[in-house]
Amino acid sequence: MFLSGKTALVTGSTSGIGLAIARALAGEGARLILNGFGAAAEIAGLCDELGATHSAADLTRPAEIEAMMAEAGPIDILVNNAGTQHVAPIDRFPPEKWDLILALNLSASFHTIRLALPAMKEQGWGRIVNTASAHSLVASPNKSAYVAAKHGIAGLTKTVALEAAPHGVTVNCISPGYVWTPLVENQIPDTMQARGLTREQVVNDVMLAAQPTKQFVTVEQVAALALYLCRDEAAAITGANLSMDGGWTAQ
Ligand code: NAD
Repeated sequence: MFLSGKTALVTGSTSGIGLAIARALAGEGARLILNGFGAAAEIAGLCDELGATHSAADLTRPAEIEAMMAEAGPIDILVNNAGTQHVAPIDRFPPEKWDLILALNLSASFHTIRLALPAMKEQGWGRIVNTASAHSLVASPNKSAYVAAKHGIAGLTKTVALEAAPHGVTVNCISPGYVWTPLVENQIPDTMQARGLTREQVVNDVMLAAQPTKQFVTVEQVAALALYLCRDEAAAITGANLSMDGGWTAQ
């Protein structure tokens, strides 16, 4: 268990990709701090399963991030994964949705990183893994806030990687294509409405149209890459934006 003795904080780990990453890290012995929303009983069950603690911090609120980080203490592995989506043309994009997406999908990572990095530098080892997206590299219509935030996280990743490189700390982002999670499920109705399509058309002609494999990425595949980035063998991978998108951005 190569992560025994390490502490990992995974944001947005009560569901989807974050939960799979938390399971993978815990499986290698890391002490987990979960974060995210959900039913109290389900979260308690996850904490039991993983031997984890849980922070209910709302990451759109910097004060709650500061409290979460203070309570967590020094962190060896930081996974910035919490994210949300809203689908609408820009002229009908609600400004409060723009603010929410930028706060959660981009600014929250600025705050967790600025607060976690000093201890990582001091101990001379650390891993920061950001869940970006194929939308950190290419755009799709009706996702202005998400695409802007994900391009931002890719830039933040590169910048922090350069600052952290001399200290044994690597900083990377993983850019999945469509992964079957509640986040994807929830955007189907809005995409149906925005584009006047049926559910089947959204899945096959919009989502998987972009992925030459015609398969959704799985949360376990993303988690396996995140876990690999935590290995000592991955020490030379830093500042990278690693695509896992079934060939989407090769086109
Ligand atoms: P999900 O909806 O299953 O999980 C999102 C997690 O974030 C949940 O744990 C939720 O409780 C948490 N969260 C939401 N708002 C929060 C807040 N204000 N504060 C703290 N936590 C909050 O989504 P997912 O598909 O697993 O997405 C995880 C990440 O992966 C996101 O950054 C997303 O943009 C990215 N991503 C997803 C896909 C995909 O196809 N699913 C593709 C590329 C990138």
